[in-house]
Amino acid sequence: MTSDRESPLVEKILNLKNERNAIILSHNYQLGEVQDIADFVGDSLDLSQKAAQTDADVIVFCGVHFMAETASILCPDKTILLPDKHAGCPMADMATAEELRKKKLALADATVVCYVNSTAEVKAESDFCCTSANAVKVIESLDHTGLILFVPDQYLGHYVESKTGKEMTLWPGYCPTHTRILPEHIVRLKQEYPEAKVTVHPKCHPEVIALADEVLSTSGICRYAKETEAEDIIVGTEIGIIHRLRKENPGKRFIPVSEQAICPRMKLINLEKILWSLEDMAPVVKVPEEIQIKAKRAVDRMLEIGR
Ligand code: SF4
Repeated sequence: MTSDRESPLVEKILNLKNERNAIILSHNYQLGEVQDIADFVGDSLDLSQKAAQTDADVIVFCGVHFMAETASILCPDKTILLPDKHAGCPMADMATAEELRKKKLALADATVVCYVNSTAEVKAESDFCCTSANAVKVIESLDHTGLILFVPDQYLGHYVESKTGKEMTLWPGYCPTHTRILPEHIVRLKQEYPEAKVTVHPKCHPEVIALADEVLSTSGICRYAKETEAEDIIVGTEIGIIHRLRKENPGKRFIPVSEQAICPRMKLINLEKILWSLEDMAPVVKVPEEIQIKAKRAVDRMLEIGR
């Protein structure tokens, strides 16, 4: 669904946003209506960078809980609103700080690299943070030869191992949405669209990645879509991104690998909830100071390394 910028609901949101000196950030997987009213739409790395740079007093984070937490880690003095408090990431919840502390004890001296899709407590226990846009670069930047523990996405970890040649201990987490994308989906679509290029997200199964022309973060897919001469692009990630791709590239055809690749938590946020959130200034996501200070070291390193 897309939004009409003239609608009374959108007008109320935009007026209140100005009154509160707020900025609306949206992940690429959000509903079209949310993406359309956002000040900025991007992947986790883009959104973290925007959160770190903004002068706004309030950030309305249209994404999932760990993303709002990351904004709180980077901007502890700002008010971070997550318009639906139930918008959590099941993969982030697959690693707890307590489990990680136990694993660290078992793997003494391991360097811990956490995917940004993790809780603030897990980030606080980690040495480096990374996103899917810079995971390979972060691992390549480690100049030591010791053990690396990668948390929580085993498939992103597997992809990074294949690109860097560095063996890592992989946490057994996974994204329930991306693991719905199967190799047979791609094989079938390649028969139907023989000229199409195949893009997939590195959270997919290795067998899916093996069939792709490009393995990219969501913003990487958006950039590739603009630059490629291909007119048909098969897209192997959460289907919310199709809205942005079609909007930015009206002459091209985007084919989702699987209509089932929907993240239900990402879809919890809509225009009504954004309005209520700005009216009530709730739900607020605030990372406690002792966790925030520790987690910021890992997140700052991720931002220093960049894309
Ligand atoms: Fe988490 Fe996967 Fe949903 Fe992203 S798409 S928020 S990794 S469950």
